[in-house]
Amino acid sequence: MTHMSDLTWTCHVCGDERPDDKISVHSVTKTTRMIEIKQNVRYCNDRVDCIEGAKKIDWLDGPAHYEMTKVDGT
Ligand SMILES: [Zn+2]
Repeated sequence: MTHMSDLTWTCHVCGDERPDDKISVHSVTKTTRMIEIKQNVRYCNDRVDCIEGAKKIDWLDGPAHYEMTKVDGT
């Protein structure tokens, strides 16, 4: 039997494992030298420190998940 509510995520800021409804994703997209970098930071949406911390995680220097896409410049 599958319970959707059992889904948990690890917060990138405090490192705690939290239920799905307590985790939000802060996404930022930045374009550098024709490469688009998307940063997805998961954070606890009920903890002020995590909400603020998610905005401060450094680019390419944290545990966050990144996706890079080459931008078609033509
Ligand atoms: Zn957290």
